[in-house]
Amino acid sequence: MADPVGTAGRPVVPGSGALRPLGIHEVRLEPGFWADRQRLGGEVIVDHCRAWMTRLAWVGNFRLAAEGRPLSDRRGREFSDSEVYKLLEALCWEAARTGAAPAERGVAELTELVAAAQEPDGYLNTCFGHQGPGVRYSDLEMGHELYCYGHLIQAAVARLRTHGEDELVAVARRAADHVCRQFGPDGRNGICGHPEIETALAELSRATGEERYLEQARLFVERRGRGLLGDHELGQAYFQDDVPVRAARVLRGHAVRALYLASGAVDVAVETGDDELLEAVAEQWRNTVAARTYLTGGMGSRHTGESFGEDFELPPDRAYAETCAGVASVMLAWRLLLATGESHYADAIERTLYNVVAASPAMDGRSFFYANPLQQRVPGYVVDSGAASPHAAAGLRSPWFAVSCCPTNLSRMLASLAGYVATVDEGGLQLQQLAACTVRATLPDGRAVGLRVETGYPWAGAVTVQVEEATGGPWRIALRVPAWADGAVLAYGDLRRRVGPGYAVLERDWRPGDELRLDLPLAPRWTRPDPRVDAVRGCVAAERGPLVYCAESVDQGPAARLDEVAVDASVPPADQGPDGGLGGAMTLRCAARAIPVGDPGKPASSSAGRAADAAVPLTMVPYHLWGNRGPASMRVWLPELPN
Ligand SMILES: [Zn+2]
Repeated sequence: MADPVGTAGRPVVPGSGALRPLGIHEVRLEPGFWADRQRLGGEVIVDHCRAWMTRLAWVGNFRLAAEGRPLSDRRGREFSDSEVYKLLEALCWEAARTGAAPAERGVAELTELVAAAQEPDGYLNTCFGHQGPGVRYSDLEMGHELYCYGHLIQAAVARLRTHGEDELVAVARRAADHVCRQFGPDGRNGICGHPEIETALAELSRATGEERYLEQARLFVERRGRGLLGDHELGQAYFQDDVPVRAARVLRGHAVRALYLASGAVDVAVETGDDELLEAVAEQWRNTVAARTYLTGGMGSRHTGESFGEDFELPPDRAYAETCAGVASVMLAWRLLLATGESHYADAIERTLYNVVAASPAMDGRSFFYANPLQQRVPGYVVDSGAASPHAAAGLRSPWFAVSCCPTNLSRMLASLAGYVATVDEGGLQLQQLAACTVRATLPDGRAVGLRVETGYPWAGAVTVQVEEATGGPWRIALRVPAWADGAVLAYGDLRRRVGPGYAVLERDWRPGDELRLDLPLAPRWTRPDPRVDAVRGCVAAERGPLVYCAESVDQGPAARLDEVAVDASVPPADQGPDGGLGGAMTLRCAARAIPVGDPGKPASSSAGRAADAAVPLTMVPYHLWGNRGPASMRVWLPELPN
């Protein structure tokens, strides 16, 4: 194996499953859509996050805790430690990815601060366990102590897999040992209100070989859903303490909590051979994607409780679709993909990456969406760029938030993104995301393989794969064909073959210099919603390849008011051309007409009138780029003209 010491930089390393992931030392993103964003993450976003957390004293809280200062001196919400840990994780990935001294120094500096605040028995939290009212584990519902350990441990796992043992890993081991003592079979029969510790402990067990961490993760998963947490004003579903994980049929409650818990449950199921638990989560995922997920891949329909709604409760304007839920959804789908090898999980990752994760940062990387609605009725308001926004949803990106979980989550995802691109199995290599990259890996049978993937995806549909290294007989190259790709063609030499959704597979005795090419049809298309989604019935949305599009008021002429037009969906939208102000992104055009004025005697009811005859052109831009040109109204779902 190419990775005898476990430092290939894989975000997730299941002990078994259909596919083995390749890490950031095996896959390198090359210039293109994702490498550009990864560079923005490394060069701008991590520094931005650290500067804000230093200014707001969330970093300094660790120093106060180490000095034993009173809790009244502390700043930030009770879970702000977790943001420092997520930044630490991002810096670990960045240090490994780039070898850059500032990232490595950042890891060392933050580790020193964090380590100094750890108590002799391994306990570590700047909000609880110190002088003041914060008694340890006195508020498992909302105190987030175990949640914070989870992010600390994930940072340490990233360090272990990219660097090896160091002080950060030692701190996390002491914290994990403390958790096992406190919450083990003979300890407190408790769970954390915010899941995260489950997947973190399972991964720490994988990374260290220590079984007790996995057993603790399993205990936390099994204890959930049995009413161990106190009453919540929104009901126990808020923190998934309503139904045992293996008995639930759909994700519910707080979306990020539900997705982190499900990720941990998959980890536990895979490591313990618990097929019943694995299938339970897979069913929850299927039901959730079918009825509780936005076209963008966004999850979470309600601002209240930041939660999933009921089936088909998917209002575009009230969508919460938190950026963190997008990150967590990628984490869950990746785990299910590795366990099963089923391509629809990779399809979901693609949809979520392009339309939620990529939507969060502004083009300059200095402000972020927290909520990702699919409709903005009135132009957003300009926030004070010098203050943390108290609002998760403002219609414009904010530099920072009072609860600022999303920018740091985005950072760690971008920094580790190459670890979600490709996999191997006994037969060969699978390209799960169609990103420009180079791959150097070892197949399970020990053969070294190397590929170079060149593509202008998602703007262009051609994906060219060149074999750069191959030895010792036939193996397979599998390229994922997304579910939307109707009419994709795989070409190799004289062979040209239409390929359907799933994997386009070629098995050969590959030689360096061999080249194959996948051509994906990128003609813009209209998508109609499930008719059970009341909020957008009668509407259509434009998509092009993996990208969801939207109409933004700043692009329209005075005749096209976004809340007063309907589109002619009998004609597909057309490519309009690249937009220089949006980094060369392809824009689309379609025809729309003004909707007739309603009957003044009946509230919001239809009149007998016809839509105006005069067509007005509507310009559409990729959803992930909206909000980059000042306050604007926006909509993804557009009413369709009646036939
Ligand atoms: Zn968030």
